[in-house]
Amino acid sequence: MNKDFARHIAWTSDDPLGVEVITAEGPYLHLKNGRRLIDLISGIAVSSIGHRHPSVLNAIQEQLNRHLHVMVYGEFIQEPQVKFARKLTSVLPSSLDCVYFTMSGTEANEGALKLAKKYSGRTRMIAFERSYHGDTHGSLSVTGRTIYQDPFRPLLPDVCFLPFGDFESLSRIDEQVACVIAEPIQGEGGMRVPPSGWFQTLRARCDHTGALLIMDEIQTGFGRTGSLFAFEHEGIVPDILTLAKAMGGGMPLGAFVSSAKVMDTLRRNPPLSHVTTFGGHPVSCAAADATLQVLLRENLSNRAQWIGETIRQRLKHSPKITEVRGKGAMLGLDVGTDSNAQQVVNHCLDHGVLLGWTLHSGSVIRLAPPLNIPEDVLHEAMDVITTALCH
Ligand code: PMP
Repeated sequence: MNKDFARHIAWTSDDPLGVEVITAEGPYLHLKNGRRLIDLISGIAVSSIGHRHPSVLNAIQEQLNRHLHVMVYGEFIQEPQVKFARKLTSVLPSSLDCVYFTMSGTEANEGALKLAKKYSGRTRMIAFERSYHGDTHGSLSVTGRTIYQDPFRPLLPDVCFLPFGDFESLSRIDEQVACVIAEPIQGEGGMRVPPSGWFQTLRARCDHTGALLIMDEIQTGFGRTGSLFAFEHEGIVPDILTLAKAMGGGMPLGAFVSSAKVMDTLRRNPPLSHVTTFGGHPVSCAAADATLQVLLRENLSNRAQWIGETIRQRLKHSPKITEVRGKGAMLGLDVGTDSNAQQVVNHCLDHGVLLGWTLHSGSVIRLAPPLNIPEDVLHEAMDVITTALCH
């Protein structure tokens, strides 16, 4: 373990991976010890167009030559923000036409929760068991796992958790509820896909009661699940959409998106109800604009579908796997026990393939390859994984 890392970087567990990256390119991480890893988790669903995509590097370079930070978010007209917001809203339903940029996913969710409270004048929030929405106090309050909440109580009051995918309990959403926050597919919950029709029922219940539906597409967004946004699979439109991770093409950027009517509520009573210094950093927005162009031009949502099918095909005869969950290129392999998952991940790491875990489901191995991973590289990685699953 690197001595300065051990001494000066705050650890988040007693057992960090400790991999030392020197360069990264496309689907590869090149390490200090001379080894090369195929990155099958994309910095956890971030590098969806691969590491250091030339279009992203160009956009960053061009913006570096113009300006970096100039003013807190929302005061100056910064071309990269405006240009990207226009492009982003052009690929969203017409009711999602107003973007508030943040720096991270959790900050996008914080903004969305505040917006829903202020717009509705209500305080109750509904979230789901095994959800993950981030680690700041508001997002943690709607994250459905008590072991992560308990050390930090008191959290936000008036939050109620329902079982994800359960139809009956949706009747608990009533006229007191400001918002319901849900991931289309629970990522940290182990790539859990709800039963078909559930989101439509949830949408109808929100419409009936006036609760705002927030869909957290921080992990599922930007092509990962086989459509540009996962809500498209469900045939519904959220009132507020939260985004981050893959949006910036490797640069930090988050956003909550809603209608101008809902978003206007942050303008007044008081003015500056929600502000951020670095939200929508111009370099991140320039990178995001280039990233979205690549995703659309190369039709990477479709490719995510193909990746998912290819992986499932390759895993068909692996007896260790009890279930393959997820959609498109957002997959979780349930191998029954935490130690099985650990064994497989470690074997793959030793043999040049980076896989990951999920926060709430220890027996699930996470796969989130770059959506433009070359076919031969994907098969090379799958050779390693299928071998690991035989051990
Ligand atoms: N929501 C979801 C669904 C996530 O997967 C994550 C990150 N794993 C977050 C929110 C938080 O994003 P960030 O780490 O950028 O704060």
